[in-house]
Amino acid sequence: MNNLNRRQFLKSLGLASTVAAFPGIITAATTRPHIVVIGGGFAGATAAKYLRHWSTAVDVTLVEPNATYYSPILSNLVLNNQRSLGQISFNYNTLAQKYGIRVVNDWVDSIDAPNQSVQLRGGTTLNYDRLIIAPGIQFMDVPGLDSTKVPHAWQAGPQTTLLQQQLAAMPAGGTFVMTIPGTPYRCPPGPYERACVVADWLRTNKPGSKVVVLDANPAIVVEAATFGNAFASYGVQYVPNATLQGVDSDQRIAHTSLGDFKGDVLNVIPPHSAGSIILQSGLANVGGRWAGVNPLSYESTAVANIHVIGDSQGTGQPKAGHIANAEAKVCADAVLRLLSGAQPYAAPVTNSACYSPISASTASWLTAVYAYDQVSGTMKLVPESFGAAATPTSNNYRRMFDWTANLFNDTFA
Ligand SMILES: Cc1cc2nc3c(=O)[nH]c(=O)nc-3n(C[C@H](O)[C@H](O)[C@H](O)COP(=O)(O)OP(=O)(O)OC[C@H]3O[C@@H](n4cnc5c(N)ncnc54)[C@H](O)[C@@H]3O)c2cc1C
Repeated sequence: MNNLNRRQFLKSLGLASTVAAFPGIITAATTRPHIVVIGGGFAGATAAKYLRHWSTAVDVTLVEPNATYYSPILSNLVLNNQRSLGQISFNYNTLAQKYGIRVVNDWVDSIDAPNQSVQLRGGTTLNYDRLIIAPGIQFMDVPGLDSTKVPHAWQAGPQTTLLQQQLAAMPAGGTFVMTIPGTPYRCPPGPYERACVVADWLRTNKPGSKVVVLDANPAIVVEAATFGNAFASYGVQYVPNATLQGVDSDQRIAHTSLGDFKGDVLNVIPPHSAGSIILQSGLANVGGRWAGVNPLSYESTAVANIHVIGDSQGTGQPKAGHIANAEAKVCADAVLRLLSGAQPYAAPVTNSACYSPISASTASWLTAVYAYDQVSGTMKLVPESFGAAATPTSNNYRRMFDWTANLFNDTFA
């Protein structure tokens, strides 16, 4: 939002000369617009921050059940002991203290769209003028899968620790089996990155061990040359078109369309959908799994005044944290404009970036820009923007931490 728009916005709210301090809980009786944000990941935390960074004339409540957020980005480096979970964890203190965001540690049980309110598990009801939902993903059921025995580690935290411990306890000469769901899924290069990081670690720490990658997709989804070369050098057994049908969690067997694969450690990344609140609120109108939105504002195409960003959105943009942060800014700007009676910016651009560690000292990268196409009303890849590292290098590995430091700061600080 530019200065002129911001002034118009404040003026429209009668706040042009006095910017009120955050007053605490907002009810429908106040004249200040109240925006509720569900989910404090890369999408939701960024949206909450930028709403208040760009306007002190709105009140923002962020609802997130956990006091600590563990970044999935860099979490594969916990598996090979290059990072601790503590180094990729964040809290919401800065968002509360510096930006005046009201942070509520609770779970949103349901949304009452006609009455513009959300019900929290703890019993509170929050009214909203605009609702932004960023609940990430939920995993779909896989017969026999017990994630306390067979971790996904695709949401970081205790699951990451569990997988790291299982790898540490694996015998030398053992087998690590992992499954990759069909697209779309969270972080296209992420599973291949994990296979490389684990294979590299096993080489030196568990000699004679083997990595088997069961991919539901017909081929490596992104950076095929980089990951294909790494798999060849590590001796990874890559099995395409292996659709997961079930799991024996006690015996650590993956039942697939191409047969059974038993591991000493089994890592199953189940197919996923938008977060549960999206599905139960009638917002999953893209394939019954993702939320259809207008990419100018990320307003749901199913329910008015509700916006969906991050991995839950169904625009076709990648499900990744960097672009979730970008979508959040487009959305925050649009919400402030809509609240002031203006239209969203007509030509939004987002970008995606993924750095992938290939070993404990080298990394690759992938980047792409998406621009709004007025004819189709969709976000389209700008072809000439698409880039990938020619080869994994130690320089890329160092730059990976510069990139994450910027992204983490832009989201949580
Ligand atoms: C191994 C790995 C590597 C990755 N590497 C990269 C990378 O290099 N680059 C990149 O861009 N991305 C990467 N990603 C992807 C990135 O982590 C995700 O795309 C990103 O976290 C999505 O952000 P989000 O805010 O949509 O969801 P999340 O980060 O999952 O946050 C959702 C939040 O919503 C909360 N929530 C859910 N439902 C409710 C509810 N009903 N009420 C209240 N709160 C709720 C949850 O508690 C959670 O904190 C990687 C992912 C993995 C697993």
